[in-house]
Amino acid sequence: MMAQYLALKAEAEDCLLFYRMGDFFELFFEDAKIASAALDIALTARGEHAGERIPMCGVPVHAMEGYLARLIKAGHRVAIANQTETPEEAKKRGGSKALVARAIVRVVTAGTLTEETLLDSRAANWCAAIGEAGGQVAIACADISTGIFQIIETDASRADAELARLSPAEIIASEASDFAQLATALRPRVDFDSAQGEARLKRLFQVATLDGFGQFSRAALAAAGGLVAYLDHTAKGSLPFLRPPRVTRTEAAMAIDAATRESLELCQTASGARKGSLLDAVDRTVTGAGARLLGQDIAAPLMDRAAIDARLDLVQRFHDDGGLRDMVRGNLRALPDIGRALGRLAAGRGSPRDLGQLRDGLDGAWRLGERLGRIGDSPALLGELVPQLGGHGALIDLLSRALVPEPPIDADKGGYIAEGYDAALDDLRDAGAGGRRAIAALEADYRQRTGISGLKIKHNGVLGYHIEVAAKSADPLMAADSGFTHRQTLAGAVRFNAPDLHEVAIKVTQAGAHALAAEAAHLEDLTAQALANREQIAATADALARIDVSSALAERAAEGGWARPSLVDHACFEVEGGRHPVVEDALARSGARFVANDCALSESSRLWLVTGPNMGGKSTFLRQNALIAVLAQAGSYVPAARATLGLVDRLFSRVGASDNLARGRSTFMVEMVETAAILAQATPRSFVILDEVGRGTSTYDGLAIAWAVVEAIHEDNRCRCLFATHYHELTRLAERCDALTLHHVRAREYKGDLVLLHEVAEGPADRSFGIAVARLAGMPPAALKRAKAVLDKLEAGRAKTGGLAAGLDDLPLFAAAAEAEEEAIDTLRTELAAIDVDALSPREALDALYRLKGLAAEA
Ligand code: ATP
Repeated sequence: MMAQYLALKAEAEDCLLFYRMGDFFELFFEDAKIASAALDIALTARGEHAGERIPMCGVPVHAMEGYLARLIKAGHRVAIANQTETPEEAKKRGGSKALVARAIVRVVTAGTLTEETLLDSRAANWCAAIGEAGGQVAIACADISTGIFQIIETDASRADAELARLSPAEIIASEASDFAQLATALRPRVDFDSAQGEARLKRLFQVATLDGFGQFSRAALAAAGGLVAYLDHTAKGSLPFLRPPRVTRTEAAMAIDAATRESLELCQTASGARKGSLLDAVDRTVTGAGARLLGQDIAAPLMDRAAIDARLDLVQRFHDDGGLRDMVRGNLRALPDIGRALGRLAAGRGSPRDLGQLRDGLDGAWRLGERLGRIGDSPALLGELVPQLGGHGALIDLLSRALVPEPPIDADKGGYIAEGYDAALDDLRDAGAGGRRAIAALEADYRQRTGISGLKIKHNGVLGYHIEVAAKSADPLMAADSGFTHRQTLAGAVRFNAPDLHEVAIKVTQAGAHALAAEAAHLEDLTAQALANREQIAATADALARIDVSSALAERAAEGGWARPSLVDHACFEVEGGRHPVVEDALARSGARFVANDCALSESSRLWLVTGPNMGGKSTFLRQNALIAVLAQAGSYVPAARATLGLVDRLFSRVGASDNLARGRSTFMVEMVETAAILAQATPRSFVILDEVGRGTSTYDGLAIAWAVVEAIHEDNRCRCLFATHYHELTRLAERCDALTLHHVRAREYKGDLVLLHEVAEGPADRSFGIAVARLAGMPPAALKRAKAVLDKLEAGRAKTGGLAAGLDDLPLFAAAAEAEEEAIDTLRTELAAIDVDALSPREALDALYRLKGLAAEA
């Protein structure tokens, strides 16, 4: 057995090996140590190998999914070695000592899951492969839970951003690849050969040429080939269902790099949660497939105005007609996830319930299609979607006749094929039921004959049907002429058999076994018939998802009073009454109101410099506008009263000195690397938000860098940009940059308290209110007073030198601080010297002491 185990382990490579032994999957050696720690299960030892006890642990077969889920989540991959013959077959083959044959039947990895319990129903599960050829790069990705297969043609510099968009569960690369460090699994170089890839795709889709699917670069063929080879490897030859690949180019979507995604929290927050992200704030979908599609839409806003408008037309139709929207959402809510059910069936892991889901889902889709086909003013996109909802009449009819209303997940016990579908099966069931009735009659008969009222006929796996009586009443049945044969004596009971029971039992058991086999054959046949239509079923699933997304966006828009954006070709950005959907939601929960703000970028004012107090709302304002651009190009209404937006080709968002320890670089270094990337990549069609860039270093060079960045963006990139800064000195740039305008978030001091108005107004902020914010934050009065004194000095110094315009070196920060301290100490000394202690009354002495303490605090 160890030899067999070691051979399988060698084949499993770096996966944990689940080795089937009876009702358990066992793990040995290092695997056992890793799994027992990860799963918190007992580590035992057994036998000996090379003079050492063999560490071992095991999980019961029936509870395997839960354990698998935990191992996969912890980043492991698991090879499943099953028994490929029964012990009886093994004995027949090799005698009583023969070892049962085993083989790896599947490799379970994060990117190749289909099990409902292991997947998030509202997120796609991508497995991605990177291919390179002739200086080009492509990423092939598949969600095998639904069969969606895409290839993105990109280049080396943007591969990272594409991967960030997809956020795959697994990334595969050739072991010889430049991208090896991005991969979670490395595969042999030959798997990524473009010629082999082409051959593999042709074989997979059984076509002589790939032309029907679009144009493939060599890199695309390499990536797709590498991916298919990997899926083939994990499925051990029974390749899951993949739909023909859709090829897109990176440029088809708004480019959003990893740092920008992170900073804007598009689909997840900085901590990785969905809650708190833009997606979460927007998502009103009622189906898993809708939620998955919305996630993809928001991750990849479109660049094609016609396509965006087509989406918006449909959203508008649902927005303007609340009754229609409610009808559609009500219908969708009741539908099962047919895409995932199909994925499981295609992967050979389908259950009767999956077929039931197809039946109900396709039937519901057809009904919805009928209703949508009758509405007036149908937008073009809906006209394309509605025909996809029907066409499954024959399959629905078949499944309706064949299956019981609620088929079980577990096929082993049968009972899922409906009565009346197969006369032979019905007969077998009748025989079984008749037999069970006969057994009940026998039980009554035996009771009467023996006079033992507690006599029972029972069934178990070892004895089959048998008679059981309490030990104390067993004696009469033990007699040789009783007609009963003794089988087993337990602590409190004795078990018997009888010839007439044996006869009936055989009939029942045989009928049951035959019925089960008949049902299994039907399951196989029904699955095959469903899979014969898989392309059309997948298209129906897609159409339902798009209808869900459109009606959900309409619902969100109606709920929040959002507006349909109008997209134009010139580089403007006009938003009236814009809001930040996530912050607005958060404020609403605490009963506070969000202050809407306008933004108007144009040729003559394409760079806004925003100043104002901390906590005033600068970051919120910047982000809300970036999010509005994302939503609009994803085909959604936007949180604003009105919006006219020129298409954005690349979106950048950077926050100064954000903590980025996870990436292992100093925060300031990260900030500069990212800012450099913007200056290198932003085009006149791009939209950039920069929040307090330069904050991460000392005042002078931070200010100098911020200054240079603003100039470069204004002169060279010429993109639309919102730049928030606390360096007031930058406002002087307005004099030399003609497309730069000054704005500030308003605040007021009222009776010594700071009131943040969260309103964006024209012109620079008159002062920074930092000290007022510090007071809000509860800083001790003495420290506040001291800060105020230093500030006054600084401001006096700035007035004298003319501030920044006179040269950065003139900013008298430290000199002023020292000077203010000096002065306070002088005052203290003078006051002390002036006191004539002997002339003071006790009351005057007390007053003097208070005054001196106050002065000391200032010093
Ligand atoms: P800092 O300079 O300290 O980073 P900031 O000016 O960037 O501050 P934000 O982080 O944008 O300020 O906003 C601070 C808080 O103010 C938000 O968390 C929110 O509660 C509130 N706020 C921001 N904008 C608005 C708004 N338009 N209406 C109402 N409240 C707002």
